Amino acid sequence: EFLTDMAAKRAELTPDAVAFIDHDTSRSFTFCEVNSRASRLGNLLLNRGLEKGDRIAVLCLNHPDFFVLLFAAQKTGLLLVPLNWRQPVAELKPVLEATGVKVIFHDGAFAETAGELAAETGVGLLPLGATGTSGSALDDLLKEASPAAIGCGRIEADTPWYLMLTSGTTGLPKAVIQTAGMAYANMINYSQAAGLTAGEKSVNFLPLFHTAGINLPTLPVFLNGGSSAILRKFDADAVLDLIDAGDVTSFFAVPAIYQALALSAGIGKTDFSNVRFLGCGGAPVPGHLLTDFRKRGVTICNGMGMTETGPTVFLMDKSHAAVKIGSVGKPQILTDVRLVDGEGGVVEGPGEGEVQFRGPNITPGYMDNPQATAEAFTVDGWLKSGDVGRRDEDGYYFIVDRLKDMYISGGENVYPAEVEKVLVDHPAILEAVVIGVPDDKWGETGAAFLILRPEEDLDTHELPGWCRSRIAPYKIPKSFFIVEDLPRTAAGKVRKNLLKDMTFAEKT
Ligand code: ATP
Ligand code: MG
Repeated sequence: EFLTDMAAKRAELTPDAVAFIDHDTSRSFTFCEVNSRASRLGNLLLNRGLEKGDRIAVLCLNHPDFFVLLFAAQKTGLLLVPLNWRQPVAELKPVLEATGVKVIFHDGAFAETAGELAAETGVGLLPLGATGTSGSALDDLLKEASPAAIGCGRIEADTPWYLMLTSGTTGLPKAVIQTAGMAYANMINYSQAAGLTAGEKSVNFLPLFHTAGINLPTLPVFLNGGSSAILRKFDADAVLDLIDAGDVTSFFAVPAIYQALALSAGIGKTDFSNVRFLGCGGAPVPGHLLTDFRKRGVTICNGMGMTETGPTVFLMDKSHAAVKIGSVGKPQILTDVRLVDGEGGVVEGPGEGEVQFRGPNITPGYMDNPQATAEAFTVDGWLKSGDVGRRDEDGYYFIVDRLKDMYISGGENVYPAEVEKVLVDHPAILEAVVIGVPDDKWGETGAAFLILRPEEDLDTHELPGWCRSRIAPYKIPKSFFIVEDLPRTAAGKVRKNLLKDMTFAEKT
């Protein structure tokens, strides 16, 4: 099966419309420019001896040229591996080795890291200059390259296009294969759910080395002919200024970002009236955050997806967001979802079970890792999310928790996410994380780690009382710790396995 070359198509349809704005330099790139830059870069890479299937990595802060690189990879059949720039050399090295990268593109900010990686692994380097100082890091490199079209303008749907590393919340990150077919299916799911149009003005501040950054606020917007302002990285003031100026119609963010926006000084005087769609996902979103934004007249639509699902599967519709609070909505247009109970039976109607997925946006598997791939799918071909979900009588879904995080106290299942929600409803608590820890009497009990709101104080002895009227006694944590911060992934998710190791180490 073949798909069209998206960058070339857009250049044909809307050549002079703005596809990208580099926020730091205010430079804009039309669809025609993006396509010709991608062709130039593709030709340059092929001229340097790289071949279809070769893996090229990128280690850069966000820039429109990241997408130029992505389209160049699509045109040439090279496989792009975006690297997590928050990771040190010691963590990047195994990623490069596992994915067989030949060349790393890097900007000035990561020259040192890239140099060390080259020395240790023998990969080649393609320096892009200092992002932001010269307007565009790729300009110098592209001067000598031919803008001639590459190939026949058709893209094989099943060819791996890029590798996306999972967040590494439950263990080491896994390299998920993202094919062009998956990416296009995701674009349809997301465009449809978010109601994207050619008038879309998106802002993208998510790290582009995770699936959300590439696949939510930008690629679907590009497909529709809209524009994306790209920020090097998240900056609350810059985002609020853009919104206030009326330059944003939609974006997607993780709960930690909404939290940061809610706490920032500028939020009170920001005019959100041009913002049409705000998506949120990647981790559970506290109910108070949704309410806080609703009071400002802003509806946040919660959604759920995984790196393995491209990622869009669930996205809340705006009209029900205030009624089905905390729901991730319904499965989107191209994707089937089922719930499977502990005995392996498919749940019909309202109920609870492991969420499983099927559809064209689902990955064919993990790169060069048939064992992990086999473990991720059922025998009849559904992807196992590892998450517990609940479906209500109207067909709306709620993510209960990760199966792995569930613990059993006195014979009863406890989902930490439920306990965490009760704790963050407490006025002094900003963030709460609960894990199951061994207990002589109950098998396991909860330990809660709490980050307080700025300027707040809390006597943890009052917390069992706070919980008692809200959840069953066996769900109430036995110990509470106030902490300054928690071990996190780049996506801001708490690495509970590390917390478990820490509490265990403390006890022994
Ligand atoms: P790893 O697979 O490496 O352990 P990860 O699962 O966190 O890391 P991602 O693919 O980035 O990596 O995240 C997908 C997971 O995020 C889902 O399986 C689910 O547990 C969680 N998630 C995503 N959206 C939501 C949401 N709206 N509410 C609750 N959990 C969510
Ligand atoms: Mg996962």
